[in-house]
Amino acid sequence: MDNTDKVILTVACTGAWPKKSDTPYVPLTPQEEADDIVRCWEAGASIAHIHVRDDAGNPSMNLDKFAQTVDLVRSRCDIVLNLTTSGGLGVLDDERMKPFQALRPEMASFDAGTMNWAHTTVFENSPKFLEKLAVSMNECGVKPEFEIFDAGMIHNVLHYRKKGLIQDVPHFQFVLGAPGGLPAEVKSMMFLLETCKENLGSNFTWSAFGIGRGHLPILFAALSLGGHVRVGMEDNIFYRKGQLAKSNAEFVERTKRTVAELEKSIATPEETRSMLGLQGSPGKLANA
Ligand code: ZN
Repeated sequence: MDNTDKVILTVACTGAWPKKSDTPYVPLTPQEEADDIVRCWEAGASIAHIHVRDDAGNPSMNLDKFAQTVDLVRSRCDIVLNLTTSGGLGVLDDERMKPFQALRPEMASFDAGTMNWAHTTVFENSPKFLEKLAVSMNECGVKPEFEIFDAGMIHNVLHYRKKGLIQDVPHFQFVLGAPGGLPAEVKSMMFLLETCKENLGSNFTWSAFGIGRGHLPILFAALSLGGHVRVGMEDNIFYRKGQLAKSNAEFVERTKRTVAELEKSIATPEETRSMLGLQGSPGKLANA
């Protein structure tokens, strides 16, 4: 892949969990989230990964909330949009797909397997759902971001690629430190990366992030290994120990400085579209 001096920076401003009682700075309404995303875009972010909340601040897959957020962002900047398909546990399969089907972002998340979540519940991504998701994303021209919480999930992606249900060059997001998934340790990331290389050669792109206190170690390690990165309050609300970030843009600005020290730069949204082959139309399938 060209553009080896370019780093794609995703910002995940809201996520499903932090509440105002955790941090007063987390954006929850469509207006708050759009304002925050625009600030992150001004600071240089490439992609916005979007979740929405209901009026009580709980995670939601409400289409109106997604539409309001997406419209507000699109009217003000050209950041690449990546909508979640996992905004809350126990949501019906079809509800999880509606936002990307209706709003046609260039990307959406694809959680590539089921896992126990925090020893309390099941984060369910059944084979039936994942197959429907793969087919629908391709029909809609939405590139999946394969969120990898555990090593077996890479093999699930390889299965759908072999079946010709997904695009030829998958994009992975290594999610490290989720309760029930791989821990936020560099050796976890290395194993995932090696697994991708063994199976796909250089025919993939990847990004990584650590949750909570794993945020900075994984960020630095991913940048050192040529990966892309994600920041934001979905994953981590502290700028440093004991100090809440006052906006998501603070994370973007710090990452921009770090990337500059490595003599690289953050990819603009346009460069990101080129690097990830975002087309806004049905993509080339692996076996087509
Ligand atoms: Zn998310």
